[in-house]
Amino acid sequence: MSINFKQIEEKLKSEATKLLEEGKVGVVLAYGKGYDENHPLPFVARKASDVENIVFNEYCTANMARYIVRYPRGTKIAIAVKAADSRAVIQLIQEDKVKREDLVILGIPAYGMKNAKTGEVVDSKTTCGMYNPVIYDTLLGEEVHGQSVVSPYDVLAEYEAMDKEARWAFWKKELDKCIRCYACRKACPMCYCDPCFIDQNKPKWGEKSPESHGNLMYHLTRFHHLAGRCIDCGECSRACPVDIPLYLFHKKVAKDCEEMFGQAAGMSIEDKPALVNFRVEDSDKILE
Ligand code: SF4
Ligand code: SF4
Repeated sequence: MSINFKQIEEKLKSEATKLLEEGKVGVVLAYGKGYDENHPLPFVARKASDVENIVFNEYCTANMARYIVRYPRGTKIAIAVKAADSRAVIQLIQEDKVKREDLVILGIPAYGMKNAKTGEVVDSKTTCGMYNPVIYDTLLGEEVHGQSVVSPYDVLAEYEAMDKEARWAFWKKELDKCIRCYACRKACPMCYCDPCFIDQNKPKWGEKSPESHGNLMYHLTRFHHLAGRCIDCGECSRACPVDIPLYLFHKKVAKDCEEMFGQAAGMSIEDKPALVNFRVEDSDKILE
């Protein structure tokens, strides 16, 4: 079975048209034409005539859940989601950033998605290792079955084999490359704080421009703000213009959280975010 991207695009267009014409939603968050086929853009359709700009192909890796929080509460939103994106939607519902009843979730089963920068298939490295959305109202293609399922944490093997000193040297070298463009923050559906701690002047939590200590402060704080919340969409890593492998840190924290608290982020609306939900049986390892 291969993914029929064109058919998904057609279904996405017809669902978007119907929802907008019937007034069931005010906006449809999907993908639109970029400067070429390999560079589709996040796109918002507000009226039926906008729908002709919608596209879907293997380069549509952006996580559209990023844009939900831009709309006032109560806005009726239709959103196109792949597997990891659907987990972001669930996480946002858990965090009460949006109500389930205000969303129409258009699920996209997919594999073989590609990084527009490198052309590499991204499935096993920087996405959550899932092919079907966890939640949806309408599925825009056939459920994916029979694809090999790999643990999203397999890519951590080499990193986990490093001792503390080697890890420190690894991150020091990587984070020293950071030019503080904040594209990682901008791409992330779970980075919605306004203002972000690093943009605050009073108090000033850390240096905003690129320099070694400030970079460390920004990234360590961001990594830990995302503990138990990162849904492994990989968008932060793909957005980074200097190719810092941010996904390694996020995956390591996600793996530790899963082991300590017995839940992965964004898998069930019934869950509470792991780090705001105290249970007596929770592991004390987090204090070590
Ligand atoms: S931290 Fe990166 S991988 Fe995790 S949710 Fe945000 S953009 Fe996705
Ligand atoms: S996208 Fe990359 S360079 Fe830009 S702030 Fe994030 S880590 Fe730094």
